[in-house]
Amino acid sequence: MSVAEILIKTVNFASTKHKHQRRKDEAQTPYINHPLGVAYILTSEAKIDNIHVLQAAILHDTVEDTDTTFEEIETEFGVEVCNIVREVTDDKSLTKETRKKLQVEHAPNSTYEAKLVKLADKLYNLRDLENSPPVDWDENRINQYFNWSKQVVDGLRGTNEAMEKSLDDIFKRHISCA
Ligand code: NDP
Ligand code: ZN
Repeated sequence: MSVAEILIKTVNFASTKHKHQRRKDEAQTPYINHPLGVAYILTSEAKIDNIHVLQAAILHDTVEDTDTTFEEIETEFGVEVCNIVREVTDDKSLTKETRKKLQVEHAPNSTYEAKLVKLADKLYNLRDLENSPPVDWDENRINQYFNWSKQVVDGLRGTNEAMEKSLDDIFKRHISCA
């Protein structure tokens, strides 16, 4: 399969899986804009052209947020892509608080490929918080999300200068001692 075929197959799979989902912003943006935007940050800003990383970015929320299984990802896209998706997927059987704590703890031990996807995911979500936040979030909840994200990002440093610089600019705007 050509690189173009592989990427379109991946986009088609993710868009089918997320077809009923929306983001939490006022416009209820189609959910698929998020994984595609994460992959676009990786190509356009981080200058990443590793196909497995880009596929994992496109697929990164399919297991966490839809009925997709890791077996399905491995069968359709191979073990390398599946392993990256596995690394960036929260265990939904745990409480939200535990999942947040584990993201901070796991960040420094992640592979380079997973760190790239995690940085791009955080960057996309923090830009969303600045430009089109979830409708029902008050200032306190937004601030807590910025603070937690910085803890995760601090464990991912030394991975990609462009994304880390953009994230630091965001943290400077929202965290007093950043
Ligand atoms: P959630 O995990 O509930 O929501 C954030 C996630 O929603 C993002 O990581 C992103 O995940 C997705 N998302 C969808 N649309 C948007 C959008 N427009 N902008 C940004 N993200 C979007 O948040 P938290 O529970 O972490 O809440 C933030 C902080 O507030 C936490 O630190 C928590 O302690 C605190 N808090 C939480 C409360 C709660 O009920 N959970 C209540 C009060 C405070 P993805 O990339 O997967 O799409
Ligand atoms: Zn995401």
